[in-house]
Amino acid sequence: MLLIRSFRFFSTYINKYSPAMSKLNKSSGAGEKKAIHVTQHPFKSHEENAKFQILATPIKSSSDKKDYRVIRLENNLTVCLISDKSPIEELAEDSDTESDTSFVTSDEEPELSDASEKSETLGRTKSNSDVEQKMAAAGLCIGVGSFSDPKDVPGMAHFLEHMVFMGSEKFPSENDFDSFIKKGGGSDNASTDAETTCFYFECLEKHLHEALDKFAQFFIAPLMKREAMTREREAIESEFQMALPSDTSRKEQLLCSLSQEDSPVNTFAWGNLITLRDNISDDKLYEGVHEFRRRHYSAHRMTLAVQARLPMQTLEHYILECFTNVPNNNLPPDDFSQFSASIFDTPQFTRMYYVKPMKDLCQVDLTWSLPSFRDKYKSKPHEYISHLMGDEGKGSLLSFLRNRVWAITTSIGNGESGTELNSIYALYTVSIVLTEEGLKQLEEVIAAVFSYLNMLKQIGPQERVFNEMKLIADTAFRFAREDPAVDTVEELCENMQIYPPEDYIAGSELYYEYDPEAMKMIMDLLQPTKMNIMVVSKKLPENIVYGKTEKWFGTKYTDTEIPAEWIEKWKNVEPYPEFSIPSPNPFLTTDFSILEKNDNHPEYPERLMHCSLYEIWYRQDQKFGLPLAYYYLYLISPLSIKSARR
Ligand SMILES: [Zn+2]
Repeated sequence: MLLIRSFRFFSTYINKYSPAMSKLNKSSGAGEKKAIHVTQHPFKSHEENAKFQILATPIKSSSDKKDYRVIRLENNLTVCLISDKSPIEELAEDSDTESDTSFVTSDEEPELSDASEKSETLGRTKSNSDVEQKMAAAGLCIGVGSFSDPKDVPGMAHFLEHMVFMGSEKFPSENDFDSFIKKGGGSDNASTDAETTCFYFECLEKHLHEALDKFAQFFIAPLMKREAMTREREAIESEFQMALPSDTSRKEQLLCSLSQEDSPVNTFAWGNLITLRDNISDDKLYEGVHEFRRRHYSAHRMTLAVQARLPMQTLEHYILECFTNVPNNNLPPDDFSQFSASIFDTPQFTRMYYVKPMKDLCQVDLTWSLPSFRDKYKSKPHEYISHLMGDEGKGSLLSFLRNRVWAITTSIGNGESGTELNSIYALYTVSIVLTEEGLKQLEEVIAAVFSYLNMLKQIGPQERVFNEMKLIADTAFRFAREDPAVDTVEELCENMQIYPPEDYIAGSELYYEYDPEAMKMIMDLLQPTKMNIMVVSKKLPENIVYGKTEKWFGTKYTDTEIPAEWIEKWKNVEPYPEFSIPSPNPFLTTDFSILEKNDNHPEYPERLMHCSLYEIWYRQDQKFGLPLAYYYLYLISPLSIKSARR
């Protein structure tokens, strides 16, 4: 679940990070033991009194020209420094002249005209005379989230995330950091997930040192005054009100409520005025939020990523200066090992729910709770099943459902938000957007799912398919495009909570090894008897009414037993003759060599072929030297103006 801090401060990211959307990034394994490999220079002495360890360097894409260095400070805070060697195109972005440019090589850069000064400064990049202005960025992730909320104060982790923005001993004015960042044309945000809390910002390089100094104070000595509590719980209530109409959030909360009552996921991660004002005294909240910070916001559970077009030594210097004093209490994270995927092994989970949506949806979600596959990141066995079940070509589940006009789309797999993938369990969901007819044929639609699954079980894991997935991932990684720095650091600081340093970048992307046993295990766990069915539709079968109301979101729903004869049928359904796995993909390649440059390069595309039906035009790229081709197809057809019947 992505909880957004203070939407009121917030303009440019709102679409992408809308609280209505489930988070698709990884989140931390607070309870996991991390295997960190120290490769060289243990406690290399740096400057006079600052010491740090150097850890393994992450494996990166061969098209990534940035330098990476992972260090661990004496207080055990782990930092990934990213030095981007591309030049800084200096912009005169405001009247602020006191900037720290001592390490910036902007003197050598050509000055841009004043006419470009008034460019829009709110975005993450600046367009200026066609020069894309990159931003520097930093993200810090802490291995604690809503799973650690006290049972009587749901939303505490989220509340703390808000409170640390409210000034520090060194910079006491409220929102000091936020206004500094915004004034300089940058942006900042934070989110609280199940086992992680993440803070991040972007700014111009010349503001980075000062920004890091202010940012570090969130974690060194934030004030978290009583008077700020009132405003921030209002901000949290506003975020909750914005999330209220989200069907994704409503389903997620309902699902969480079906877990064992004492489990960490059976909470209300958002928090609102009921949990943070009505049900608790101000004194208790004040003490509680300070106690929660002392307990969990410790340097040894923090991972920090910072990226800028500055030399590595400069970044190292900034970080040592700003973050060395983040306190470390050496306390272990909360221990969730007593819980497992069985926290959804409850009578209320394995039933059929009819949920009233806010939007006009017609959808069925089949959900299983599986053991966490975080430790299987090298083989990603669940992605093999999602790859095949989610195929849309000939012989696929979707093709079958569409031919019968039962379904419009499917979306299959693990969403990787903190409530879907964490150190305890992984939720696996087959989600089908149904037609009206599909809803009437629900039993048959679900039978098709199990028929396809049973086919996968019968043929067993196919190494050929895995190798294709691996090749696609390898190729995408090799030619990966560069994301904005703020997206990179946000993802990286979260990944740093999960993977060993060498896999910070590639761990979530690549397939390292084929693990057929793990694939089989997951397929075997996808049983009809272990499944939750959630039908989200405004149309209800006869004799069914929404008789129940979910506690926090007020979602109207009802639940019934899944008919035993349906389960029996799904268990034993044979693979339908229409089903098959995709045939080998003929378009995959391992040869990425580029055609030699043509000395007589034409200025415009040239027509290669033509006949009465088609023309093909072509021009070879002379600039980028990448094995990429852009195809533009322009179809001219009289069929589009004929009747639908034809
Ligand atoms: Zn928030």
